[in-house]
Amino acid sequence: MSFNYDVKSLCADEFINHEEILSTLEYAEANKNNVELIDALLEKARPKVNANGKGCHCSGLNHREASVLLACEIPEKVAKMYEVAEEIKLAFYGNRIVLFAPLYLSNYCVNGCLYCPYHTKNKTIPRKKLTQEEVRAEVIALQDMGHKRLAIEAGEDPVNNPIEYILDCINTIYSVHHKNGDIRRVNVNIAATTVENYRKLKDAGIGTYILFQETYNKARYLELHPTGPKHDYNYHTEAMDRAMQGGIDDVGLGVLFGLEGYKYEFAGLLMHAEHLEAAQGVGPHTISVPRVKPADDINPDDFNNAIPDEIFTKIAACIRIAVPYTGMIVSTRESEAVRSKMLKVGISQVSGASRTSVGGYTEAERPHDTEQFDVSDQRTLDEVISWLMDNGHIPSFCTACYRAGRTGDRFMSFCKSGQILNFCHPNALMTLAEYLADYATPETRAKGYAMIEHELENIPNENTRKIARENIEAIKNSDRRDFRF
Ligand code: SAM
Repeated sequence: MSFNYDVKSLCADEFINHEEILSTLEYAEANKNNVELIDALLEKARPKVNANGKGCHCSGLNHREASVLLACEIPEKVAKMYEVAEEIKLAFYGNRIVLFAPLYLSNYCVNGCLYCPYHTKNKTIPRKKLTQEEVRAEVIALQDMGHKRLAIEAGEDPVNNPIEYILDCINTIYSVHHKNGDIRRVNVNIAATTVENYRKLKDAGIGTYILFQETYNKARYLELHPTGPKHDYNYHTEAMDRAMQGGIDDVGLGVLFGLEGYKYEFAGLLMHAEHLEAAQGVGPHTISVPRVKPADDINPDDFNNAIPDEIFTKIAACIRIAVPYTGMIVSTRESEAVRSKMLKVGISQVSGASRTSVGGYTEAERPHDTEQFDVSDQRTLDEVISWLMDNGHIPSFCTACYRAGRTGDRFMSFCKSGQILNFCHPNALMTLAEYLADYATPETRAKGYAMIEHELENIPNENTRKIARENIEAIKNSDRRDFRF
């Protein structure tokens, strides 16, 4: 299949080509009832065992092929998509779900984003920026819940939130070791910046650099970002290439669903992933699927493109099928019911017990004054952990891959080599054991230890299984922590 755009170009208008997206949508519409093609695509996408019998691989689907699946409304074919998506998830990510929490550093912002309450014209929302002492206090509160992985969030404001401030916060976060706690991976969600600044973030030891595209439709993007540096669509869309030039291997894409037609966004998102693979040699590490939520002066109904839960689930399944090795993240913007459905079709990371206000974790009650959006899933981390286990998922606080240098294309080949069961699986169990020993309620602890006992048997390598068991015993019976393969 040949496409009408330049996947390797470093210019956003060429790798997210509007005409190519329109042709894709036409092709998808023309083929949405083409049962033969849909069956062939689903068969092509299913995991295949590697020639050496170890592990399996998936071909994925390109943006045109995946758009046909997304357009298809035939109930049995949609059910089959969900099956294939789950099969892929289990083949590469097993039944593990990684946990993280967002940490809001500052809501000062000079942009005019129409969907975000931090927009510069909002004069009623209190503006707040954490001091390093406050960062420490937030991190202690997060460690006391059991978190090991954070995503830091800040508005764009070169005066209040310059890169030096972000770097100071990262250093502070990594320096806090409260009781048995520590934060082992800091992912960063800040505005598009320069190669030089990305290099500084890389040197500060960040995990993934996350930047949501918001919308891939340039005309719509320009309307939704009328003022401020974020108005520059090309600069924003080309940010991941700069991040990779700055040495960051793991980047996270995302669309803010609800701003524009979802089929357009889906095609754009996959074209972006194809571009990174073609131009930078490695696709996105994660894809996030946020939906617009109510917030201070924001009403999602103003954007006319809200998507129902069923379509949202189908989008997640089609992403899982199209980019099998990319992690997929769903946040607490979604309710427990929606998150349950999403977990079945390929989500690999969820946030838990999130507070989206600046300084929110040190408050006894969830504060709403500086919130970026309404949190739908308001359960405690312990409740989330317990719920994951009840549904057969292993909650994982693992951060081993990037600390062992398994990032970028090295992570991808690791994923394909079938070694995940000998690494990620025991790492998940050992980090779950840390959570259970240090933070869980007695009921969750009992449930978790039973799960660990059962899941240890699924480690194929005998020696690895033995070491994992010994480490888990050490975690239960001493203060020794942070074991990893
Ligand atoms: N300021 C940075 C930027 O411009 O990319 C990133 C940080 S911002 C705190 C994180 C993300 O929150 C945004 O990229 C946007 O997609 C999302 N967001 C903003 N307003 C939202 C809303 N009302 N509902 C849900 N998500 C929202």
